[in-house]
Amino acid sequence: MLQPRQCGACTLCCTVIAVEELGKAQGVDCQHSIPGKGCAIHRSPLRPRACGRFECQWLIQRQMPDSFRPDLTGVVLTAIDSPPRLLAVCDEADALAWRREPIYSFLKRQTRSQLIAPITVLARSGPRLWLLTATTDLDLGEVSADSVLQVVTADDGTVTVSVQPPAPPP
Ligand code: SF4
Ligand code: SF4
Repeated sequence: MLQPRQCGACTLCCTVIAVEELGKAQGVDCQHSIPGKGCAIHRSPLRPRACGRFECQWLIQRQMPDSFRPDLTGVVLTAIDSPPRLLAVCDEADALAWRREPIYSFLKRQTRSQLIAPITVLARSGPRLWLLTATTDLDLGEVSADSVLQVVTADDGTVTVSVQPPAPPP
């Protein structure tokens, strides 16, 4: 059986992900992050619940190559369940890291994945969002990754997207 993964020297999510409980914005190093070592409050009750709930796809999907470790690629892969979305989050200092290999080909393959349901593949850097499709990548500008996206592909392959604000929580 495969052993669970460890973060090792990676601390990228502790920079690129916002943590509301700490008042930490995305793109800002967390005050508790020790570069190359990890979270100083990992086993403490002070650790925000949001950090415990965060699902890094490289960490949980053991079949992903070791070379996909986020600090090596500059890309934190995470998922949103409903509707199903794969999100490639990059630091603003390396905003187009998602376009580098091997991550870019991986993301493009996911746009064609129909295993469970069609999946929306997005890349984010700071407030800026891109939609990846099998045929193109669209810069959606400064919109939330939770936005409602209506994607229409014309017969000639042209993709258009309308963006609506995120649906309010139930
Ligand atoms: S991005 Fe993933 S591997 Fe890196 S520190 Fe966060 S959880 Fe660990
Ligand atoms: S509290 Fe720990 S896990 Fe959460 S962002 Fe800060 S360093 Fe990372």
